[in-house]
Amino acid sequence: MKILIVGASFGGMTTAYELRKRLSSGQRDITVISKDPRFTFIPSLPWVALGSRSLDQISFDLAGSFARKDIEFVHAGVTRIEPETRQVFTDAGEYAYDVLVIATGHRSANEAVPGLGPFDGPGHSLMSPPEAEKARSAFSI
Ligand SMILES: Cc1cc2nc3c(=O)[nH]c(=O)nc-3n(C[C@H](O)[C@H](O)[C@H](O)COP(=O)(O)OP(=O)(O)OC[C@H]3O[C@@H](n4cnc5c(N)ncnc54)[C@H](O)[C@@H]3O)c2cc1C
Repeated sequence: MKILIVGASFGGMTTAYELRKRLSSGQRDITVISKDPRFTFIPSLPWVALGSRSLDQISFDLAGSFARKDIEFVHAGVTRIEPETRQVFTDAGEYAYDVLVIATGHRSANEAVPGLGPFDGPGHSLMSPPEAEKARSAFSI
């Protein structure tokens, strides 16, 4: 059974490891696709913003971690999904699946609130690694 998991953060990684544990090696063929090559421990982003940790210190390389568990890892962004033909399209090729798990997280719609930073007004977001680094630069001025 070809299992495709999109997203390799808490949701995607936990799903991949849990399925690997529950299915026998003959039953499973697991591939994880993520647009980020590293797992970042998001709850530690405030430390990055305040300068007490670097992003490297709170993240690790996904490829090596999945390889050790015999899980295929693809570093690519998903651009389209075709449920009818069971195919996922990425900027690095197409992938067929029997079972698809979508674990791409949430997106904050701060822009929907006029005056709310960082899109429309002052303020910083600590929701993602780039935003935390941007906050650190701003705080250290
Ligand atoms: C500052 C902060 C502190 C927090 N503290 C806690 C805490 O103490 N306890 C707690 O339980 N939760 C905490 N949270 C919430 C927690 O971090 C999130 O609930 C968690 O990260 C959600 O995990 P996820 O796997 O669902 O999605 P995400 O972490 O958002 O990961 C999404 C994954 O999908 C991938 N992806 C997205 N789109 C695509 C695409 N098009 N193609 C390929 N890959 C894609 C990304 O690369 C990533 O791998 C905190 C959050 C923040 C911001």
